[in-house]
Amino acid sequence: MIEASAAVPPIRVVAPATGELLAEVPDEGEAGVARAVDAARSAAPGWGALPLRDRAEALKRWRDAILDDAGVVRTLVAESGKPRQEAEGIEVLYLCELIRFTIRAARKALREETRHPFLFLTKKTRLVRHPLGVVGVIGPWNFPILNNAADAVAPLLAGNAVVLKPSEVTPLTSIRLAEIWARVGNPADVFRVVTGRGATGAALVERVDGVMFTGSVATGRKVAARAGERLVPCVTELGGKSPFVVLASANLERAAEAAAWSSFVHSGQACIRTERIYVEEAVAGRFEELLVERVRALRQGPPDPPSGEGPDLGAVTFPRQLEIVERHLADALVKGARLVIGGKRRKDLAGYFFEPTLLLGATPEMAVMREETFGPLVAVMRVKSAEEALRQANASHLGLNATVFGGGAEARAFARRIESGLVIVNDALVNYIVVEAPLGGWKESGVGVRHGIEGVRQWTRTQAITVRRPLLAPVERLVAKFLAFPYDARVLAVLRRATRLLYRRGLAAKLERMPGDGRP
Ligand code: NAD
Repeated sequence: MIEASAAVPPIRVVAPATGELLAEVPDEGEAGVARAVDAARSAAPGWGALPLRDRAEALKRWRDAILDDAGVVRTLVAESGKPRQEAEGIEVLYLCELIRFTIRAARKALREETRHPFLFLTKKTRLVRHPLGVVGVIGPWNFPILNNAADAVAPLLAGNAVVLKPSEVTPLTSIRLAEIWARVGNPADVFRVVTGRGATGAALVERVDGVMFTGSVATGRKVAARAGERLVPCVTELGGKSPFVVLASANLERAAEAAAWSSFVHSGQACIRTERIYVEEAVAGRFEELLVERVRALRQGPPDPPSGEGPDLGAVTFPRQLEIVERHLADALVKGARLVIGGKRRKDLAGYFFEPTLLLGATPEMAVMREETFGPLVAVMRVKSAEEALRQANASHLGLNATVFGGGAEARAFARRIESGLVIVNDALVNYIVVEAPLGGWKESGVGVRHGIEGVRQWTRTQAITVRRPLLAPVERLVAKFLAFPYDARVLAVLRRATRLLYRRGLAAKLERMPGDGRP
């Protein structure tokens, strides 16, 4: 039972598509965090000691119950304003795929290994992976499953307990998922949700043994700084300003279709969405025509109509995003961009809706080409060449995702030169769901990764236990003389000679050889 804190007002969760109050949840603050982390800390050793198979079974039970619970998608759609097809086709599907992959990845990531030292050949070293303890997951509002509860999957499978602090804007889906976790018989304290605003998140960072943070650059910086002071591992997944590049060799129909989808998915409120489009002048006219056609065809409206048809765009999740869109739009228009579609709030709909908005003729100094917009507005800039497209794509303090459309070899070569943790060639956005690959931003888009084997192992600490190989004990007694008291000038002389023999001409020098060494 969650208790409200006396001093801090509760959080009002509003349905963005209707303005209706969905629920009030407490801001649990430091006291709530302390309770959740203490409970999680008590539960963690038992959970971490279970065989991986049992933890995997718990995750599968949870997944199955989520799929059976109609309320999950209903809550997600209601609090985020996103179309049902995105709620199910992106968030729920992603969680299922993530659980499938992470179970397999955890088998590899957590497996003990033996390393055989070259120098101390009488020894062997066993690498043992221990869970960290309690991992704090802090999430943003735009993907209530994908960037919140889903980020608990890897730490949980690695044997940690998790305390999740979802965004105060969209906390209800997380609350429901934690209820389902306990309802299916999984240990409730192993996966807890605390609700609250920023200060509650900050309190969580103070107490946990590892932090998985997704959100803005400004908050990520604070979280990473504090985790750094505490010397606990911290992964930050932050903002994006993803470029979408259309080379002259691109299939323009496909590029326009992908540009429309990746710009306006969840009304543009996705970290890896297309934020700015660069198109080579030679094909710009045709590409823009095709893009205009597609954006004009988008249907916007309440996210879950009884007919089950559409819409393509639902609501903007909260008013701050409307203000950013309006500011970037006004700035672009003053600086000479052309508004071809959209440009206004939808007065005919209750709730927060902004028309899908397309600008042409953008230039680099416009805010819409530099700062994260995170809303249903995108701008196209023409460039003279692929080289100029590359310069513009890389002229950003962020480096999360990038898209390039073009002929195979050219596009693939271009992709390698983009300064971005993720790049996708001749498609858009689906690279987020390629959970086999580590996903993490470059530059100010964050530090560390989710996904891949790396995304599991980082929630463990490795212990290296070095032991003697029993059969080599006699050799060891001989070698031990080199590093033992009392020090002795004759031993030192032998050591010096042996070092030179071994490393300058001997076996070690052979092992260091690279393919092609010694060729003229
Ligand atoms: P935000 O930084 O405002 O908030 C994120 C979370 O941090 C919230 O839960 C918030 O309550 C909490 N928080 C606020 N202050 C805190 C503090 N001092 N200490 C600890 N926690 C604190 O971000 P937002 O507006 O919710 O999310 C949007 C941002 O998230 C965008 O920039 C978007 O690009 C980014 N994002 C990134 C990814 C990714 O994978 N890289 C995914 C989704 C969203």
